[in-house]
Amino acid sequence: MEPVIAVEQLTKQYGGVRALDGVSFNIDPGEWVAIMGPSGSGKTTLINILGGLDTPSAGRALVDGVELAGLDEEALTRYRSEKVGFVFQQFHLVPYLTALENVMLAQYFHSMTHEAQAARALVRVGLADRMTHLPSQLSGGEQQRVAIARALINQPNILLADEPTGNLDEVNQQLVLNLFHELHAAGQTILLVTHDPAIGRLAGRRIELTHGRLAQIVVSSADDEVRFDHLLEEIFISGEQGTAARAEQLSGVGPLEVGHLLRQMAELRLLDEKSAGIALTERGRKRACDLVRRRRLAERLFMDTFSIEDPEADTHACKFEHIISPELDEKICTFLGHPRTCPHGHPIPPGHCCRPEGHGEPAKLAKIKV
Ligand code: ADP
Ligand code: MG
Repeated sequence: MEPVIAVEQLTKQYGGVRALDGVSFNIDPGEWVAIMGPSGSGKTTLINILGGLDTPSAGRALVDGVELAGLDEEALTRYRSEKVGFVFQQFHLVPYLTALENVMLAQYFHSMTHEAQAARALVRVGLADRMTHLPSQLSGGEQQRVAIARALINQPNILLADEPTGNLDEVNQQLVLNLFHELHAAGQTILLVTHDPAIGRLAGRRIELTHGRLAQIVVSSADDEVRFDHLLEEIFISGEQGTAARAEQLSGVGPLEVGHLLRQMAELRLLDEKSAGIALTERGRKRACDLVRRRRLAERLFMDTFSIEDPEADTHACKFEHIISPELDEKICTFLGHPRTCPHGHPIPPGHCCRPEGHGEPAKLAKIKV
């Protein structure tokens, strides 16, 4: 697969300031990549170069195999209107044009305006009933959604977003991020600048800059697994207490991430998508059950055997549950004499090692297999 973006030794010098210093990376079609780093690290400079708003001092930036530095002013204008869609922290809407006209304005630079198309774009971002509003009559979140509709109207190859939720309250942040999720699911390539780690984690990869240099590229999956585990446990424990888990009550991860993680977990078939509430699939239940078992066995070990008190025991158990192998799990369980409850009185789901001795709950285990 050809990368949609290829950046090679990209450098940008502003007088004495080196905003970018030999940055290289590739982005594949359909990826959602977060550009992260502290203020002044070169994020905006990078996005502006990729968007054809600025030119590098050295190195190359290729989009769809075309080197941007090789384009003349006319070709660059066409590139900006056809290949990329921009979303900025400030919405940059024309104040005296309606939402619909603001979107149509982006088409105007492209070719012909097409009102029905612009209207569809606004419907897509959830603004069917705001078409004729002026920017001043829209909330910040609505204005940003108009800006996203405008960015998408010419079906760009890449969506470039520079701190798109930086000016929004939490509710609108969530709405806009949901929109990015939908676009990503539909195959849109997204490059999103953010300094918020919770937003960065929504991306498949994070490119981290410091002082204009590439600090690291992080693939999300490794720490996602730990977050899945925390949510699985919370959902399992709610069920144990006889209540169905609700997204807004889950505390294991930040509010911005919950929806994203639950969606991913449904894709991995850990959660039942068809269920109205949050329900574990057989697979999710098994994984949650193993985690809760390891956590509670670890608590027993720390508190009974090593006399470590809460909350220290709890903190250790929380880390332990991710690293105990099935063999060690059984050894600990056997060493402790197959305890049935944790030190707080909650049941320890029985493991393989518990069954022959009759400590387990065969009826329940038989049910899991059905
Ligand atoms: P970020 O978006 O990560 O906060 P920027 O890309 O905006 O960082 O800026 C990187 C560095 O380049 C900063 O030190 C900034 O002051 C400098 N810089 C950015 N744009 C210009 C410019 N047009 N002229 C001079 N210096 C600039
Ligand atoms: Mg910036």
